[in-house]
Amino acid sequence: MFNYNLISMHKYKFLFGILFSATFCFFSCKSKNKNASGTADSTKDSSTAVKEVKPGSAITLSPNKKYIFITWDDDPQPPGTSNCIRVFKEQGIKATFFSVGMNAYDPLRKRIIDTLRNSYPQLLLANHSWSHARNRYRDFYAHPDSALQDFLKMQTTYNVPVKIVRLPGMNSWVLNKEISGQKTPYEVCKRLDSLGYSVIGWDTEWMENKTSPKQSADEMIATVRQKLNDGTTKAQNAIVILSHDRLFSKAQYVDSLTKFISALKQDTSYVFETIDHYPLVQNQ
Ligand SMILES: [Zn+2]
Repeated sequence: MFNYNLISMHKYKFLFGILFSATFCFFSCKSKNKNASGTADSTKDSSTAVKEVKPGSAITLSPNKKYIFITWDDDPQPPGTSNCIRVFKEQGIKATFFSVGMNAYDPLRKRIIDTLRNSYPQLLLANHSWSHARNRYRDFYAHPDSALQDFLKMQTTYNVPVKIVRLPGMNSWVLNKEISGQKTPYEVCKRLDSLGYSVIGWDTEWMENKTSPKQSADEMIATVRQKLNDGTTKAQNAIVILSHDRLFSKAQYVDSLTKFISALKQDTSYVFETIDHYPLVQNQ
C-alpha cells in the first residue's frame, strides 16, 4: 500500500511534471513562435531590404571597367529564349530581354515573361511594344498616339518593372530628354519621353541570317573588343549589343553564345550589366 501510494505519488508527480512542462512549452512555444515570426519577419524584411535591388535603382559604375549590355529582342520565342536564359544563368552574367506582349500567346510563353520579371537583378524584363508594329513600321510610327498606347499596353499587361523601351525596327534613343537616331519615330519618342521613358538603341548587332546568327562568335568578340577600345559606342566604356534569342534555338548556336560570353568574361575589365544601369539611363 505504502509502496503503492509512493509509486502513485511518484506517478502523479511525474504526470504533473509532464502536464506542467507541456503547458509551459505550449505557452512558451506560442510566444516564441510569435516572437520568431515577428523577429523572423522583421529580420527577413530587413535582410531582404538590404539584398533586394529594385529594377532601375542606380549603381556606381567604375571608370576602370567597360560595361557590356546584352539586349535580346522579340522574346518570348522558345526554345531560343529558354536557351539564352539558361546560358546567362550558367555563365552568371546579366542581360536584358526586350519582350513583345503579342508573342506571349500561350501559357508557356507567359511563364517565360514571368521568369524574366522574377530573375532580376540577373535578368531584366523591358518593353519592346505589344504588337511589334505588326512589322509595318512606317504605318505604326505615323500614328504616334496609337503607337504610344501599344507600348503602354505591354507595360501594364506584363507589369514591366522599368520604363525602358526599345522601338520595333528602329535604332533610336531617348536619354536625358535628348532624342537621337532614326527620324521616323520622332513623335513617338517625344511622347515616350514626356512619360519618363528611356528609349534604347544599339551599338552593334549580332545579326540574323535566316534563322541563325550571321556572324561567328569570334567575329562578335572582335567587334565588341574593337568598339570598346576605339570608343565608337554611344556612351563611353559601354556597349549595347542587340540580338534575338530566337537565333539561339539550335545547339550549335547555343555553343556560339556560350563561347562569346566565356571569351569576354576572360577580360576582367568587362562587366555584364542590365540596361537599367546603362550610364545615360542612370542619369535620367
Ligand atoms: Zn524587334
